[in-house]
Amino acid sequence: MLDSKRSSSIGFVWLVGAGPGAPDLITVRGLKVLQGASAIVYDELANPDLLKEAPATCELHSVGKRAGKHNTTQDQINALLVSLAQAGNKVVRLKGGDPLVFGRAGEEIEALRAAGLPFEIVPGVTAATASAAVAGLPLTHRDFSSAVVFVTGHQCAANTDALDWNALTKLRATLCFYMGVRRLPEIAQNLLAHGMAADMPLALISEATLPTQKIVITRLDAAAKMSPDQIVQPALVVIGEVVRLSSFATQIPALHAGAR
Ligand code: SAH
Repeated sequence: MLDSKRSSSIGFVWLVGAGPGAPDLITVRGLKVLQGASAIVYDELANPDLLKEAPATCELHSVGKRAGKHNTTQDQINALLVSLAQAGNKVVRLKGGDPLVFGRAGEEIEALRAAGLPFEIVPGVTAATASAAVAGLPLTHRDFSSAVVFVTGHQCAANTDALDWNALTKLRATLCFYMGVRRLPEIAQNLLAHGMAADMPLALISEATLPTQKIVITRLDAAAKMSPDQIVQPALVVIGEVVRLSSFATQIPALHAGAR
């Protein structure tokens, strides 16, 4: 049996993907390291039910982050991981989805490397693949989409050139916008301005894999006028021809008519 704490030796950090929401979508490896952890540092997006898997003696550190409200700074999180591992703990850094997709794992890895601490990354089911699964839409399709792009909505304000909208429009790709709800009208307006079709289907998938999940299918031109307040977060925005193939595309008869 593993000791829950190795105080005589240096600790270890696992950066674990908790998956998109449903607690049973964590990987078997992720669950095993959680069950052997002596300290867990977790985000709000990770399902709290997963914490019940930790040993009773495990230290729990919430470092929740919500849009616009940062409880703990990234530097504080990095310092916490380093100090817990230096104290000999088996540390699990539990993050929503996959740690390497918009998870700021890069900064944590850098801090661990700088401190000479050993770590392992345990991948997770990311929001884009989970959202596509619950909406019943393929992210790639040989007739409609040759690429998938994961984009952050944080850089989507109108009149910025942080993103190459022209390239995004021309790629024949499925576009998955993370953190895109607040910027939905600007995202849609930018794509329309760069020539994407007004009737391009768009899926809004809220709280994918949770009992509260919600899927709305609309068109790019309608999304350009939508109020972000109508959309429950966290939500993923998927834009592309493949959205026509969603099990929910019947929500809009005009879209379904175009489906194969
Ligand atoms: N590392 C995470 C992403 C963190 S960024 C991952 O791999 O999934 C946070 C964004 O992820 C949210 O703003 C939202 O766009 C998306 N997201 C996370 N969980 C989601 C869920 N259950 N349903 C839909 N989108 C989700």
